[in-house]
Formats: sequence, C-alpha cells, structure tokens
Amino acid sequence: MQSLTNRSENVNRSPMTFAERIYIPEIAKGMAITLKHFFKKKVTVSYPDETRPFSPVFRGLHVLNRDEEGRERCTACGLCAVACPAEAITMEAAERLPGEEHLYREEKYAAKYEINMLRCIFCGLCEEACPKDAIYLSETVTPSDYARKKFIYTKQDMLIPNPVTEPEAYAEALGKNQPTTAGSLK
Ligand code: SF4
Ligand code: SF4
Repeated sequence: MQSLTNRSENVNRSPMTFAERIYIPEIAKGMAITLKHFFKKKVTVSYPDETRPFSPVFRGLHVLNRDEEGRERCTACGLCAVACPAEAITMEAAERLPGEEHLYREEKYAAKYEINMLRCIFCGLCEEACPKDAIYLSETVTPSDYARKKFIYTKQDMLIPNPVTEPEAYAEALGKNQPTTAGSLK
C-alpha cells in the first residue's frame, strides 16, 4: 500500500550478527554515553533548595502602585479590565471625598479591585493599558494553594506599602524578590 507521506521506513529484518546477539558492544556504547554525561555540567537544580534565575522579562504577581506621596494611583478607569484577555480584573469605583486627597491621587479611586489569579495569564496587558502607572507585574511568583478562593487577590493583597509611612516595607517591595538571568545572559 502506498504511504501518505514519504516518512515511512522499511524495518530491517535481516538476522542479527554475533556482535548484536551478545549485546556487549551496544552496552559499551550506552556506558560511554552515560560516562560522557557524568562529567558534564549538571542541567538540573535541587529545587526547592535551589531555584533557577528568572528571565529579566519575567512577569509575576501584580502590584498596585502609589505615588511618591503615598497616594493610590489607580483611578478606577477600567482600562486594565477592558484590556485583560482573560477577564480576570474586576473593580468598583468610588468618588474621593473632601479630606481624602492624601489617600487617593485622583478624584475617583478603586474602592474594590480584584484579580482572579486562576484566570490571569500574566500577559502584562493590564500594565500596558494603565494610563496612571498604577499597576505593574512584579517578580514575585504567585504562591500555590489548595483553595480556589485564595487566588482572588484583593486590593489590599496587591497594594504596595506606603512610601511615606512604611518606607522600609516600600523599599523591600520595590526590590527584586528573585534573581534574574540578566547576568547569566551576558
Ligand atoms: S496580566 Fe494579563 S491576564 Fe493577567 S490580569 Fe493583567 S491583562 Fe489580565
Ligand atoms: S489600574 Fe490603571 S488602568 Fe486599571 S483601573 Fe486603575 S488606573 Fe485604570
């Protein structure tokens, strides 16, 4: 029967030679390959004691940003939610009241802001869509868990510490949490 592709191969059914029947040459070839790899640099790491450096373009957990005065940047415009291909972002807007100027940068702010991390594909489009520099994807990996509802991240989970009242926590949050491959790519 004619084959559909040209990739078919005929099986060699000729009788085995003496060397093939005793297998010793093939075993020696296999051992040589094993030995060759034995002295090569290991490609595996002992996770979780060791972790691989991340790519410099790694995108991890979202952070809701504040300005230099510690005010929330998000104005609940909804552009990030519209840009999100996974429909993972929901929010509720509220109007800033007199006396809240030190809390919220704009006249409107997100009273509620949630991201469903089980839907999120970490594409970074929300970050690109944001006109207020209010959201970015950090270098922190989303922790695993057994309960689905723990993957609904609220505003409080994502809001960066206040640089005015919590400067140390803010600096730590800005720091890179994971080493990147930037050095190893040189
Ligand atoms: S990273 Fe992508 S999928 Fe995740 S919330 Fe942002 S836009 Fe949606
Ligand atoms: S994070 Fe940015 S794009 Fe999303 S609602 Fe807030 S200001 Fe708008």
